[in-house]
Amino acid sequence: MNSTLGDPIRVDDYTRRQLLRLGIERVSDALYYFPRSYQDRRNIPLISMLVPTQSQFATGAIEAVQEEIAKNRLSIIKVQIRDSSGRLELVFFNQAYLIKILKVGLWVVVSGKLDVQPFTGTRQFIVAELDVIRNESDRLSSVGCIVPIYGLTQGVYQSVVRSAIANILAKVDHHIPDHLPQTVRDRLNLMPLSQAIIELHRPSRPEMASAARQRIVFDEFLRFQMGMVEKRQVARREVSSVHLSGQNELTAAYINQLAYRLTDAQSRAIRELVSDVTSGYRMNRLLQGDVGSGKTDVIAVALLMAVGSGYQAAVMVPTEVLAEQHFRRFCGQLSAINVEVFLLKGGQRSKERRNVLEKLATGDPLVVVGTHALIEDAVVIPRLGMVVVDEQHRFGVVQRMKLQQKSTAPHCLYTTATPIPRSFMLSVFGELEKTIIDEMPPGRLPADTQYFPLSSQRDVWNLCRYQLQLGRQIYVVYPLVDESEKTDLQSAIQGFELLKGMFDDVEVGLVHGRMTGNDKNDRMTRFKQGVIKILVSTTVIEVGIDVPNASVMIIVNAERFGLSQLHQLRGRVGRGAYKSYCILLGEKTTKMARERINAMVTTHDGFKLAELDLKLRGPGEILGTKQSGLPEFKLGDLVNDEPLLHLAYRVARKIFEQDPELSASDHQPLAQWFRRYQSFSPEEVLN
Ligand code: ADP
Ligand code: MG
Repeated sequence: MNSTLGDPIRVDDYTRRQLLRLGIERVSDALYYFPRSYQDRRNIPLISMLVPTQSQFATGAIEAVQEEIAKNRLSIIKVQIRDSSGRLELVFFNQAYLIKILKVGLWVVVSGKLDVQPFTGTRQFIVAELDVIRNESDRLSSVGCIVPIYGLTQGVYQSVVRSAIANILAKVDHHIPDHLPQTVRDRLNLMPLSQAIIELHRPSRPEMASAARQRIVFDEFLRFQMGMVEKRQVARREVSSVHLSGQNELTAAYINQLAYRLTDAQSRAIRELVSDVTSGYRMNRLLQGDVGSGKTDVIAVALLMAVGSGYQAAVMVPTEVLAEQHFRRFCGQLSAINVEVFLLKGGQRSKERRNVLEKLATGDPLVVVGTHALIEDAVVIPRLGMVVVDEQHRFGVVQRMKLQQKSTAPHCLYTTATPIPRSFMLSVFGELEKTIIDEMPPGRLPADTQYFPLSSQRDVWNLCRYQLQLGRQIYVVYPLVDESEKTDLQSAIQGFELLKGMFDDVEVGLVHGRMTGNDKNDRMTRFKQGVIKILVSTTVIEVGIDVPNASVMIIVNAERFGLSQLHQLRGRVGRGAYKSYCILLGEKTTKMARERINAMVTTHDGFKLAELDLKLRGPGEILGTKQSGLPEFKLGDLVNDEPLLHLAYRVARKIFEQDPELSASDHQPLAQWFRRYQSFSPEEVLN
């Protein structure tokens, strides 16, 4: 409640009902119900000054109304209006209902075109849009100014909403208290809140609307960023009872037995993890690295930090295929150093599953790799010290949280290969600390990426034949939007048959999401072993799969994949020392298809591609609004207003640095605004 408002703001019953249909209940709702667009009606010409053919406004008082029915039974309403300079005939086609509304004596504002008959010189104004002015306050809000156009629903009138909001603005005037400290406002050159709200509804000049918008968008982003910074502050101060040694015998042994040296970026990532887990606080870190940058080794070391300190460690992955792959890899590498590894996934035999669950429940130090199956309630991991969520963008927020809750405050590492643009990540994943692996293992050659129209497939199969002769292996991927899409599955199966016929001297395998886990595993294993030479699949192999001998990735109907997905798929090849190819087979029929394919052919930089993807598809689709917890803003646009998003981030950080509890007296309005998640001052209900 805001006392500076004085008398309560009253609206009549009719208006109140109209506003309610737009969800406007309080004064603040009305103030924050911003126009969808504007009409510049500052200089409406006098009737005598109207010129033919161009679209313009006219206004006047109604003198006469008459309806004619044309031969085709169309209603034509002709209305005479006049102003101080003369008379004008308005024509409305096929809007018979207006006869009840257009009454002599009312004022109207119309937009449309003036039509002058060549011989008679008769002037008619063909109306496109009509505004009826019922009283003086309607008139003040509809003529002689830049007029707001509000989003409406059926049965709600523009003029009613417009004049109601204009009235409220007039009463509130400049008394809306500003939560943003003056110093911040001055430094960033932002409008005071009152002015911004008023200018957004009733811009004094067109450019004022955009300056006003900046202020409001900044507010939206600031609230969001303050939330992020605060969460992070809390997370940082969360004392952990899980004491890990960081570097220990197991981590050292693991690194020693690798056939290669870690890259500097991998070592740096590991050092950051060490300093996290030994800090006394809970680790909460996002590890981001392009596909093939070697995140798995960092994960393994993180797991061993826990196991080497007597704790259990879990890693959750999004697909069974990937779970199986990690399981095998860790078994191979960790059994040599006497660490037990277990696998938990859907579709396991009940005896097998029971054994794993029993083992986990003992609290013995071990590593468990699993899918969503890990977060089921029946799974008890009492001494869980380290949680890793690999390819975290494939999980929902809730799923990520659930694994942590298996024990008290374990250390958490999230990894992602979906290259979220650096800047965007900073803002959106603000509550996590980040590590970026910005270096590829040495000797990697970027996959030579080429586009072929479907009609010249033959060239592609020739390339395959040559690569097979060199001993390499090949992926052929078909799009699958949804496991239930029969035709998609059908085209993968047909592709498989086709390739089997064409390459009858080598083994061709098929994997898709509808197969049983065992069948999938069997095929993947034989591909990994090099028995299967050509693997036809739907997108089940998209994330994480690691077969360094594979050198060709063929993506059929590439135009149907998102850019980030294409980049992920391309990341399956070029993992060994061989020259590799990514072939985009498809049709560049739409603009989107052309842009995607051209981007893939010309750039290998995952960040650049992600940024472009963001522009092409919008953030929600890429990060998954639900999954990432991406906020929705009224005015702000995460892509187009990105600079403001960062500005808000910096301001939020600075505020909390200076005043972690928001207790300083000049931060009180800000603190109140920030804590009150719902609405803004003034809160008063319209009555
Ligand atoms: P991602 O980051 O996509 O998960 P992986 O961890 O699967 O990547 O690693 C990709 C490939 O690179 C694997 O075959 C892995 O063995 C290899 N690799 C990882 N680190 C190095 C390194 N420092 N030098 C050489 N090869 C490496
Ligand atoms: Mg990986």
